[in-house]
Amino acid sequence: MYPEPVYRIQVEEISAEVVFKRIRHMHIRVYPPHGVVRISAPLKVRMDRVRAFMTSRLDWIRKRKRSIQESIPLKPSKPLNGVLYPVWGQKYSLLTVERDRPPFVKLRQKSIILAVRPGTGLDKKEALLNKWFREQVKDAASAQVDKWSSIMRVKVNKIFVQAMKTKWGTCNMDKGNIRLNTDLVHHPPRCLEYLVVHELAHLLEPCHNRRFYTIMDDFFPQWRLYREMLNG
Ligand SMILES: [Zn+2]
Repeated sequence: MYPEPVYRIQVEEISAEVVFKRIRHMHIRVYPPHGVVRISAPLKVRMDRVRAFMTSRLDWIRKRKRSIQESIPLKPSKPLNGVLYPVWGQKYSLLTVERDRPPFVKLRQKSIILAVRPGTGLDKKEALLNKWFREQVKDAASAQVDKWSSIMRVKVNKIFVQAMKTKWGTCNMDKGNIRLNTDLVHHPPRCLEYLVVHELAHLLEPCHNRRFYTIMDDFFPQWRLYREMLNG
């Protein structure tokens, strides 16, 4: 149940996560939307070999980072056909279809399909998308809370998901409730996982003090990376 240990290395201006796994060959991936670099390496490989491998691929990494950063849009301001919505770190282009049936939203391949009744206005379309985004975060958060509340031995009462202007999440320690920002749906799933662990850690330690960060280091050692991704 515990996440695999993740190490960080830095070569020139590029920092990368290193994960050791039961695989045969090293490989590097650069993840959208923020260009996080992750190197997977076989269990027996030493860190200096990982570093040499990364150094040899540095130009490729830079190119990938640049193209990812240029291609990932922010969340569009209006739900017009063809605009791109990031969902869990991938982008989907909006395809609206009109039919005389109850509306729904779903992902299909590279599209986010929004089915609405004929004549539905932009505000209503936006509300339907936001409701769907909220449900995605709620479902993903429930699964993460199930996982992490048993690992961290804390009890969560309720999970709320809502639009929030200045925070990714909050925790009400007395009631055991956590509240998460709907916009988490636009970031990779690990960002939401980090945030769940952060809010659950507040059930063990209310303040952002040394004890709190020790708890984070113990349970989710790569938390700084995800905080950077969310706030960067
Ligand atoms: Zn906090």
